[in-house]
Amino acid sequence: MAILVTGGAGYIGSHTVAELLDVSEEVVIIDNLSKGHKKAVLGGKFYEGDIRDDDFLDKVFKENDIEAVIHFAAFSLVGESVQDPLKYYNNNVVLTLKLLTKMKDCGVKKLVFSSTAATYGEPENIPILETDRTLPTNPYGETKLAVEKALKWADKAYGIKYISLRYFNAAGAHISGKIGEDHNPESHLIPIVLQAALGKRSEVSIFGEDYDTPDGSCIRDYIHVTDLAQAHILALEKLRNNDESCIYNLGNGQGFSVKEVISIAREVTGVNIKAVTSERRPGDPAVLVASSEKIRKELNWQPKYGELHKIIETAWNWHKNNPDGFGD
Ligand code: UDP
Repeated sequence: MAILVTGGAGYIGSHTVAELLDVSEEVVIIDNLSKGHKKAVLGGKFYEGDIRDDDFLDKVFKENDIEAVIHFAAFSLVGESVQDPLKYYNNNVVLTLKLLTKMKDCGVKKLVFSSTAATYGEPENIPILETDRTLPTNPYGETKLAVEKALKWADKAYGIKYISLRYFNAAGAHISGKIGEDHNPESHLIPIVLQAALGKRSEVSIFGEDYDTPDGSCIRDYIHVTDLAQAHILALEKLRNNDESCIYNLGNGQGFSVKEVISIAREVTGVNIKAVTSERRPGDPAVLVASSEKIRKELNWQPKYGELHKIIETAWNWHKNNPDGFGD
Protein backbone atom coordinates (compact mmCIF):
# COMPACT_ATOMS: atom_id res chain seq x y z
CA MET A 1 0.00 0.00 0.00
CA ALA A 2 1.12 3.54 -0.65
CA ILE A 3 1.66 6.67 1.38
CA LEU A 4 0.16 9.73 -0.30
CA VAL A 5 2.23 12.86 0.25
CA THR A 6 0.48 16.12 -0.64
CA GLY A 7 2.83 19.02 -1.27
CA GLY A 8 5.62 16.49 -1.70
CA ALA A 9 7.60 18.79 -3.99
CA GLY A 10 7.82 21.48 -1.33
CA TYR A 11 10.61 22.03 1.15
CA ILE A 12 9.54 19.81 4.07
CA GLY A 13 7.49 17.52 1.81
CA SER A 14 10.43 16.67 -0.46
CA HIS A 15 12.72 15.95 2.49
CA THR A 16 10.05 13.64 3.93
CA VAL A 17 9.67 11.86 0.59
CA ALA A 18 13.44 11.27 0.67
CA GLU A 19 13.20 9.65 4.13
CA LEU A 20 10.18 7.55 3.09
CA LEU A 21 12.07 6.27 0.05
CA ASP A 22 15.05 5.47 2.27
CA VAL A 23 12.91 3.09 4.31
CA SER A 24 11.44 1.59 1.10
CA GLU A 25 7.92 2.92 1.44
CA GLU A 26 5.76 3.08 -1.67
CA VAL A 27 5.22 6.81 -2.14
CA VAL A 28 2.67 8.71 -4.22
CA ILE A 29 3.22 12.45 -4.43
CA ILE A 30 0.80 15.16 -5.45
CA ASP A 31 1.83 18.77 -5.90
CA ASN A 32 0.47 21.59 -8.05
CA LEU A 33 4.01 23.00 -8.33
CA SER A 34 2.77 26.47 -7.39
CA LYS A 35 5.57 26.58 -4.82
CA GLY A 36 7.19 23.17 -5.09
CA HIS A 37 9.83 21.92 -7.51
CA LYS A 38 9.58 18.77 -9.57
CA LYS A 39 13.35 18.30 -9.23
CA ALA A 40 13.01 18.18 -5.44
CA VAL A 41 11.10 14.89 -5.70
CA LEU A 42 13.77 12.21 -5.51
CA GLY A 43 11.49 9.28 -6.36
CA GLY A 44 8.02 7.77 -6.00
CA LYS A 45 5.06 8.24 -8.31
CA PHE A 46 4.47 11.91 -9.02
CA TYR A 47 1.16 13.52 -10.01
CA GLU A 48 1.03 17.19 -10.89
CA GLY A 49 -2.34 18.62 -9.95
CA ASP A 50 -4.50 20.35 -7.45
CA ILE A 51 -6.56 19.09 -4.52
CA ARG A 52 -9.31 21.50 -5.57
CA ASP A 53 -9.69 19.55 -8.83
CA ASP A 54 -12.23 16.76 -8.10
CA ASP A 55 -11.33 14.66 -11.13
CA PHE A 56 -7.66 14.84 -10.26
CA LEU A 57 -8.22 13.78 -6.65
CA ASP A 58 -10.53 10.93 -7.78
CA LYS A 59 -7.90 9.69 -10.19
CA VAL A 60 -5.13 9.65 -7.57
CA PHE A 61 -7.27 7.78 -5.04
CA LYS A 62 -8.54 5.34 -7.70
CA GLU A 63 -5.18 4.53 -9.23
CA ASN A 64 -3.42 3.89 -5.94
CA ASP A 65 -4.06 1.77 -2.89
CA ILE A 66 -3.53 4.50 -0.32
CA GLU A 67 -2.87 3.47 3.24
CA ALA A 68 -2.13 6.87 4.79
CA VAL A 69 -1.82 10.52 3.86
CA ILE A 70 0.92 12.95 4.88
CA HIS A 71 -0.55 16.35 4.20
CA PHE A 72 1.94 19.17 3.60
CA ALA A 73 0.19 21.13 0.85
CA ALA A 74 -0.53 24.55 2.37
CA PHE A 75 0.54 28.17 2.42
CA SER A 76 2.85 28.94 5.32
CA LEU A 77 3.90 32.59 5.43
CA VAL A 78 2.91 34.51 8.53
CA GLY A 79 3.19 37.97 6.97
CA GLU A 80 1.30 37.04 3.82
CA SER A 81 -1.45 35.44 5.89
CA VAL A 82 -2.00 38.71 7.74
CA GLN A 83 -2.27 40.56 4.43
CA ASP A 84 -4.51 38.01 2.69
CA PRO A 85 -6.27 35.84 5.28
CA LEU A 86 -8.92 34.47 2.92
CA LYS A 87 -6.23 33.06 0.64
CA TYR A 88 -5.02 31.12 3.70
CA TYR A 89 -8.46 29.96 4.82
CA ASN A 90 -9.25 28.77 1.31
CA ASN A 91 -6.05 26.91 0.77
CA ASN A 92 -5.28 25.61 4.24
CA VAL A 93 -8.76 24.93 5.58
CA VAL A 94 -11.11 24.42 2.65
CA LEU A 95 -8.75 22.19 0.68
CA THR A 96 -7.85 20.14 3.74
CA LEU A 97 -11.55 19.51 4.40
CA LYS A 98 -11.82 18.36 0.81
CA LEU A 99 -8.96 15.96 1.25
CA LEU A 100 -10.43 14.65 4.50
CA THR A 101 -13.78 14.07 2.82
CA LYS A 102 -12.04 12.10 0.10
CA MET A 103 -10.20 10.05 2.74
CA LYS A 104 -13.47 9.37 4.53
CA ASP A 105 -15.19 8.32 1.29
CA CYS A 106 -12.30 6.01 0.37
CA GLY A 107 -11.86 4.56 3.87
CA VAL A 108 -8.35 5.98 4.35
CA LYS A 109 -7.97 6.37 8.11
CA LYS A 110 -4.46 7.54 8.78
CA LEU A 111 -3.24 11.12 8.45
CA VAL A 112 -0.06 12.94 9.42
CA PHE A 113 -0.80 16.65 9.41
CA SER A 114 1.66 19.56 9.14
CA SER A 115 0.79 21.97 11.89
CA THR A 116 2.76 24.80 13.37
CA ALA A 117 4.07 26.62 16.42
CA ALA A 118 1.94 29.52 15.18
CA THR A 119 -1.09 27.75 16.69
CA TYR A 120 0.10 28.94 20.13
CA GLY A 121 0.35 32.68 19.44
CA GLU A 122 2.12 34.53 22.27
CA PRO A 123 3.20 31.63 24.48
CA GLU A 124 2.17 31.33 28.12
CA ASN A 125 5.34 29.41 29.00
CA ILE A 126 8.71 28.75 27.44
CA PRO A 127 9.37 26.02 26.40
CA ILE A 128 5.88 25.50 24.99
CA LEU A 129 4.00 22.31 25.86
CA GLU A 130 1.34 20.74 23.65
CA THR A 131 -1.20 21.35 26.42
CA ASP A 132 -0.54 25.11 26.53
CA ARG A 133 -3.10 27.65 25.40
CA THR A 134 -3.58 28.04 21.63
CA LEU A 135 -4.41 31.61 20.66
CA PRO A 136 -2.85 32.38 17.27
CA THR A 137 -1.70 35.91 16.50
CA ASN A 138 -1.95 35.44 12.73
CA PRO A 139 -4.30 33.82 10.19
CA TYR A 140 -1.71 31.19 9.25
CA GLY A 141 -1.78 29.80 12.81
CA GLU A 142 -5.58 30.11 12.90
CA THR A 143 -6.01 28.01 9.75
CA LYS A 144 -3.81 25.22 11.10
CA LEU A 145 -5.63 25.27 14.44
CA ALA A 146 -8.98 25.16 12.64
CA VAL A 147 -7.85 22.00 10.84
CA GLU A 148 -6.64 20.41 14.09
CA LYS A 149 -10.10 21.01 15.54
CA ALA A 150 -11.79 19.49 12.48
CA LEU A 151 -9.46 16.49 12.80
CA LYS A 152 -10.55 15.88 16.36
CA TRP A 153 -14.18 15.61 15.26
CA ALA A 154 -13.37 13.62 12.12
CA ASP A 155 -11.61 11.10 14.36
CA LYS A 156 -14.63 10.80 16.67
CA ALA A 157 -17.15 10.53 13.83
CA TYR A 158 -15.29 8.59 11.13
CA GLY A 159 -12.35 7.03 12.94
CA ILE A 160 -9.74 8.94 10.92
CA LYS A 161 -6.67 8.77 13.17
CA TYR A 162 -4.23 11.63 12.92
CA ILE A 163 -0.92 12.84 14.22
CA SER A 164 -0.58 16.59 14.06
CA LEU A 165 3.01 17.80 14.12
CA ARG A 166 3.48 21.37 15.26
CA TYR A 167 6.66 22.43 13.54
CA PHE A 168 8.80 25.18 14.95
CA ASN A 169 11.28 26.68 12.43
CA ALA A 170 12.31 24.19 9.77
CA ALA A 171 15.77 24.90 8.38
CA GLY A 172 18.80 23.27 6.76
CA ALA A 173 19.09 21.00 3.76
CA HIS A 174 19.47 17.32 2.96
CA ILE A 175 22.89 16.01 4.00
CA SER A 176 23.45 14.65 0.45
CA GLY A 177 23.27 18.22 -0.90
CA LYS A 178 20.69 17.03 -3.47
CA ILE A 179 17.73 18.99 -2.13
CA GLY A 180 17.25 22.08 -0.02
CA GLU A 181 15.15 25.18 0.53
CA ASP A 182 14.02 27.17 -2.52
CA HIS A 183 11.16 29.63 -2.12
CA ASN A 184 10.42 32.37 -4.59
CA PRO A 185 10.34 35.02 -3.27
CA GLU A 186 12.30 33.86 -0.22
CA SER A 187 10.98 35.08 3.11
CA HIS A 188 12.59 32.78 5.66
CA LEU A 189 15.43 34.02 7.78
CA ILE A 190 18.18 31.44 7.22
CA PRO A 191 17.98 31.30 3.40
CA ILE A 192 17.80 35.10 3.30
CA VAL A 193 20.92 35.38 5.45
CA LEU A 194 22.73 32.88 3.21
CA GLN A 195 21.62 34.71 0.07
CA ALA A 196 23.20 37.81 1.56
CA ALA A 197 26.39 35.80 2.17
CA LEU A 198 26.35 34.80 -1.50
CA GLY A 199 25.97 38.44 -2.56
CA LYS A 200 22.51 37.75 -3.98
CA ARG A 201 21.13 40.47 -1.73
CA SER A 202 22.96 43.36 -0.17
CA GLU A 203 21.80 42.94 3.44
CA VAL A 204 19.50 41.22 5.88
CA SER A 205 16.71 43.13 7.63
CA ILE A 206 16.20 42.33 11.28
CA PHE A 207 12.43 42.59 11.79
CA GLY A 208 12.26 44.46 15.08
CA GLU A 209 14.89 45.16 17.70
CA ASP A 210 12.48 46.20 20.43
CA TYR A 211 11.09 42.84 21.52
CA ASP A 212 11.28 41.77 25.13
CA THR A 213 14.25 39.47 24.52
CA PRO A 214 17.92 39.79 25.62
CA ASP A 215 19.07 41.41 22.35
CA GLY A 216 15.67 42.79 21.29
CA SER A 217 15.26 40.53 18.23
CA CYS A 218 12.79 37.62 17.95
CA ILE A 219 13.75 34.20 19.25
CA ARG A 220 12.89 31.00 17.38
CA ASP A 221 13.59 27.29 17.72
CA TYR A 222 15.26 26.04 14.52
CA ILE A 223 14.95 22.37 13.62
CA HIS A 224 16.69 20.50 10.82
CA VAL A 225 14.33 19.56 8.02
CA THR A 226 15.56 15.93 8.01
CA ASP A 227 14.90 15.60 11.75
CA LEU A 228 11.44 16.96 11.04
CA ALA A 229 11.01 14.49 8.19
CA GLN A 230 12.06 11.59 10.46
CA ALA A 231 9.27 12.49 12.85
CA HIS A 232 6.76 11.81 10.05
CA ILE A 233 8.11 8.28 9.66
CA LEU A 234 7.69 7.71 13.41
CA ALA A 235 4.19 9.21 13.29
CA LEU A 236 3.26 6.81 10.50
CA GLU A 237 4.49 3.89 12.63
CA LYS A 238 2.37 5.09 15.52
CA LEU A 239 -0.71 5.23 13.29
CA ARG A 240 0.04 1.74 12.01
CA ASN A 241 0.03 0.48 15.59
CA ASN A 242 -3.62 1.59 15.74
CA ASP A 243 -2.70 4.14 18.31
CA GLU A 244 -4.66 7.18 19.40
CA SER A 245 -4.61 10.49 17.54
CA CYS A 246 -2.07 12.87 18.97
CA ILE A 247 -0.44 16.30 18.71
CA TYR A 248 3.33 16.73 19.02
CA ASN A 249 5.63 19.74 19.05
CA LEU A 250 8.77 19.50 16.96
CA GLY A 251 11.69 21.71 17.81
CA ASN A 252 15.10 21.42 19.43
CA GLY A 253 14.08 23.14 22.64
CA GLN A 254 16.68 25.86 22.25
CA GLY A 255 15.93 29.40 21.12
CA PHE A 256 18.14 31.61 18.96
CA SER A 257 17.55 35.29 18.27
CA VAL A 258 17.63 36.71 14.76
CA LYS A 259 20.93 38.38 15.64
CA GLU A 260 22.40 35.10 16.92
CA VAL A 261 21.36 33.35 13.70
CA ILE A 262 23.14 36.02 11.66
CA SER A 263 26.22 35.73 13.83
CA ILE A 264 26.40 31.91 13.48
CA ALA A 265 25.86 32.28 9.72
CA ARG A 266 28.83 34.67 9.61
CA GLU A 267 30.94 31.98 11.31
CA VAL A 268 29.77 29.21 8.98
CA THR A 269 30.16 31.20 5.76
CA GLY A 270 33.18 33.32 6.69
CA VAL A 271 31.33 36.30 5.20
CA ASN A 272 30.63 39.45 7.20
CA ILE A 273 26.91 39.51 6.31
CA LYS A 274 25.47 43.01 6.57
CA ALA A 275 22.40 43.38 8.78
CA VAL A 276 20.13 46.40 9.30
CA THR A 277 17.24 46.89 11.68
CA SER A 278 13.77 47.39 10.27
CA GLU A 279 10.15 47.39 11.42
CA ARG A 280 8.55 44.48 13.23
CA ARG A 281 6.72 42.04 10.97
CA PRO A 282 3.01 41.95 11.87
CA GLY A 283 1.89 38.71 13.53
CA ASP A 284 5.31 37.71 14.91
CA PRO A 285 5.41 36.54 18.55
CA ALA A 286 8.61 37.52 20.41
CA VAL A 287 9.69 34.03 21.46
CA LEU A 288 8.75 30.55 20.24
CA VAL A 289 10.64 27.62 21.71
CA ALA A 290 9.30 24.08 21.84
CA SER A 291 9.29 21.42 24.42
CA SER A 292 9.59 18.25 22.30
CA GLU A 293 9.75 15.97 25.34
CA LYS A 294 6.47 14.32 24.39
CA ILE A 295 7.58 13.10 20.97
CA ARG A 296 11.01 12.15 22.32
CA LYS A 297 9.42 10.06 25.04
CA GLU A 298 6.47 8.56 23.18
CA LEU A 299 7.94 8.02 19.71
CA ASN A 300 11.62 7.96 20.63
CA TRP A 301 12.31 10.86 18.26
CA GLN A 302 15.98 11.81 18.37
CA PRO A 303 17.25 14.74 16.32
CA LYS A 304 20.44 14.01 14.40
CA TYR A 305 21.25 17.60 13.52
CA GLY A 306 20.29 19.44 16.69
CA GLU A 307 23.04 22.10 16.61
CA LEU A 308 22.17 25.35 14.87
CA HIS A 309 25.72 25.53 13.55
CA LYS A 310 25.22 22.17 11.81
CA ILE A 311 21.78 23.16 10.52
CA ILE A 312 23.20 26.32 8.93
CA GLU A 313 26.18 24.36 7.57
CA THR A 314 23.86 21.98 5.65
CA ALA A 315 21.83 24.95 4.37
CA TRP A 316 25.04 26.73 3.29
CA ASN A 317 26.20 23.61 1.44
CA TRP A 318 22.94 23.64 -0.54
CA HIS A 319 22.81 27.39 -1.23
CA LYS A 320 26.47 27.64 -2.19
CA ASN A 321 26.17 24.83 -4.72
CA ASN A 322 22.69 25.85 -5.92
CA PRO A 323 22.64 29.66 -5.82
CA ASP A 324 19.55 29.62 -8.07
CA GLY A 325 17.85 26.84 -6.11
CA PHE A 326 16.35 24.19 -8.39
CA GLY A 327 16.69 26.61 -11.29
CA ASP A 328 13.07 26.31 -12.44
N1 UDP B 1 13.11 37.50 10.13
C1 UDP B 1 13.89 38.65 10.03
N2 UDP B 1 14.29 39.04 8.78
C2 UDP B 1 13.93 38.37 7.65
C3 UDP B 1 13.14 37.22 7.77
C4 UDP B 1 12.74 36.80 9.04
O1 UDP B 1 14.23 39.28 11.03
O2 UDP B 1 14.31 38.82 6.55
C5 UDP B 1 12.70 37.05 11.47
C6 UDP B 1 11.20 36.90 11.67
O3 UDP B 1 10.62 38.10 12.11
C7 UDP B 1 11.15 35.79 12.73
C8 UDP B 1 12.38 34.95 12.44
O4 UDP B 1 13.25 35.76 11.65
O5 UDP B 1 11.29 36.34 14.01
C9 UDP B 1 12.08 33.69 11.66
O6 UDP B 1 11.25 34.04 10.56
P1 UDP B 1 10.92 33.05 9.38
O7 UDP B 1 10.13 33.81 8.36
O8 UDP B 1 12.16 32.37 8.93
O9 UDP B 1 10.02 31.91 10.05
P2 UDP B 1 8.65 32.01 10.89
O10 UDP B 1 9.06 32.24 12.32
O11 UDP B 1 7.81 33.09 10.32
O12 UDP B 1 8.04 30.67 10.70
